[in-house]
Amino acid sequence: MTSIGKIKSIDEADFSGKRVLVRLDLNVPVKEGKVSDTTRLDRIVPTLKQLVQKQAKVIVLSHFGRPKGQRHEDMSLKPIAETLSGMLPGVSLNFAPDCIGDVAHQVVQNLGNGQILILENVRFYSGEESNDESFSSELARLGDVYVNDAFSVSHRAHASTAGIAMHLPAFAGPSLMAEIKALSAALDQPKRPVAALVGGAKISTKIPVLSNLIQKVDKLIIGGGMANTFLFAQEKNVGKSLCEPDFSDMARNIMAQAKAGNCEILLPLDAVVAKEFKEGAESSVVDINSVSSDSMILDAGPETLKMLCDELKLCKTLLWNGPLGAFEINPFGQATFALAQEAAKLTQEGQLVTIAGGGDTVAALNLAQVTETFTYVSTAGGAFLEWLEGRDLPGIKALT
Ligand code: AMP
Repeated sequence: MTSIGKIKSIDEADFSGKRVLVRLDLNVPVKEGKVSDTTRLDRIVPTLKQLVQKQAKVIVLSHFGRPKGQRHEDMSLKPIAETLSGMLPGVSLNFAPDCIGDVAHQVVQNLGNGQILILENVRFYSGEESNDESFSSELARLGDVYVNDAFSVSHRAHASTAGIAMHLPAFAGPSLMAEIKALSAALDQPKRPVAALVGGAKISTKIPVLSNLIQKVDKLIIGGGMANTFLFAQEKNVGKSLCEPDFSDMARNIMAQAKAGNCEILLPLDAVVAKEFKEGAESSVVDINSVSSDSMILDAGPETLKMLCDELKLCKTLLWNGPLGAFEINPFGQATFALAQEAAKLTQEGQLVTIAGGGDTVAALNLAQVTETFTYVSTAGGAFLEWLEGRDLPGIKALT
């Protein structure tokens, strides 16, 4: 695993008058040519302000959508550049309609200290995703130093995330640094006992995550649809619940490895069940040994919730990925929301470090209104999961 100590932050660096190529993730939701959600941009603005303050010539690299190496006007970064410009009053911010070649070189040459230039979508060139050496050196020629501030794409070995760092002095931007510090605090040197909650739909997508976590955490809470496969593997009736019987051996294997490694696995004690998977469906609470063949487990029950709240009180760190139930459908989000609120309360009291990530998890924590209270919430989906799998992320490794 990449050691965080080997990564240089931009804080101490002198960027005055330097051409700083900064990789950001400007892949934000756009509807009818307008940015419809600025959450990701809100996190980027402080990075740009810091570089402007350092009197750097700021050159932004990013992808947008999946143009697959072709120029697609509907995947231009221009509208996003316009929105960013509005978020940075008093700062000169321009857009260049290409990311390499004469056009890009020309505008970079005219860039003054403390000014920002957004280059067009790097994925308009196939060399971006194939991490083509000549494409990454073309990009690198535009700058004197490279800064990666896009954790969410750092699991990709692309030209603008990995290849380019081989050509220039490379630094981690403030958001990326905060992200890896938070994740290292949870996984590498956590305050113990540390619990991980892994929920969500399927075990099949999270086997490497579970296998890595049982080696690192003291308690592994398994929730959501994937808990059903573990229950099935223990020969419990899960009725019509989401379940992957083909993965029962895998579930048994994980339980055996956890036992051997002194990691306690916590499974649901009771469940909220329904006959239909729809909004407002009639539901009831049953003991986990009494699920009827015509019902579906859609949320953790109150006994499970109480057990998990009590467990959290004994822990110092919680790492969370995946909901405890089908939280998008009322009333099956209750256990997820209540546990999130308990974790937030313990965080506020200074008793628990709470680190969460993944698309659905962020949505659930937002609904529970705890995102601001948690110690750190990562909006990166794929990169967050790969980190939980214990993999070296190419974009981060490249910074060392
Ligand atoms: P994931 O992307 O693997 O984290 O899965 C998140 C999805 O799992 C959400 O859309 C939840 O609705 C779904 N989910 C969680 N628990 C259940 C369950 N018991 N039955 C069906 N879907 C579930």
